[in-house]
Amino acid sequence: REPAPRPQATRVFVVANQKGGVGKTTSAVNIAAALSELGQRVLVVDLDPQGNASTALNVEHRQGTPGTYEVLVDGLTLAEVIQSCPDCESLDVVPATIDLAGAEIELVSVVAREGRLKKAILAHPWVGTAASAGEDRYDYVLIDCPPSLGLLTLNALVAGAEMLIPIQAEYYALEGLGQLLSTVDMVRAHLNPELAVSTIVLTMYDARTRLAAGVAQEVREHFGDQVLKTAIPRSVRVSEAPSYGQTVMTYDPGSPGALSYLEAAREIATKGSLS
Ligand code: ADP
Ligand code: MG
Repeated sequence: REPAPRPQATRVFVVANQKGGVGKTTSAVNIAAALSELGQRVLVVDLDPQGNASTALNVEHRQGTPGTYEVLVDGLTLAEVIQSCPDCESLDVVPATIDLAGAEIELVSVVAREGRLKKAILAHPWVGTAASAGEDRYDYVLIDCPPSLGLLTLNALVAGAEMLIPIQAEYYALEGLGQLLSTVDMVRAHLNPELAVSTIVLTMYDARTRLAAGVAQEVREHFGDQVLKTAIPRSVRVSEAPSYGQTVMTYDPGSPGALSYLEAAREIATKGSLS
């Protein structure tokens, strides 16, 4: 497989949408796995107490396993909690356990509570430019957010430079997006001026329905070039993969879902190298 060019410095993506079930986790893990197949070094940070990304990437995340909670609340370094995805080439994971559910409240009394994740990511020796972090550097960090706009998601929005918003090609697709975008504006104004909505991916796209085509058109009119050309089709293989502790990239590499995520990953890698 033709490798994609590595970016000059680590690109940190926030995969967010406060709506649940739109394909955040599915997109985060599959784009991560696809990027690793394209020769990129990738870190997935599971920021959802449900731990769905940890499940899909087959890393330990039983209660008590050190992960995102310990990084945010106890100040552990990423290096102390990172696990490598057993079935992937160059993909590491910061797992999330159910303990993370408490972080939203516990963080309220912590100093600089919204900057904890950023601090941990920046402190990792493999995050930075080719010059500062060397050949082993992560090319991509993908943060999988919970379906809310609380302190966990806020930590991600402060830590990242690019947002990847999955939008389900369905009725009410754009509902709630206004709230997300005004949160982004608020974060940009006060906490992280670099934050940009760089990438939108249409998920669970059913090409046979007029509804999906209509939603896709509406999203493209609204967001233009930010929307990836590749839409991810609705496919049973995509939804089955996590129950085998796999991404669709290894579960069924030739399936339309896997091929679309590969295309999407290539678009992301190419877009970044042009800007
Ligand atoms: P979120 O993280 O936004 O809550 P998920 O990624 O967990 O959303 O997806 C919600 C549900 O939709 C899951 O059951 C997942 O397996 C399913 N799903 C996601 N993408 C697809 C797809 N392309 N085809 C079929 N099912 C999908
Ligand atoms: Mg999720």
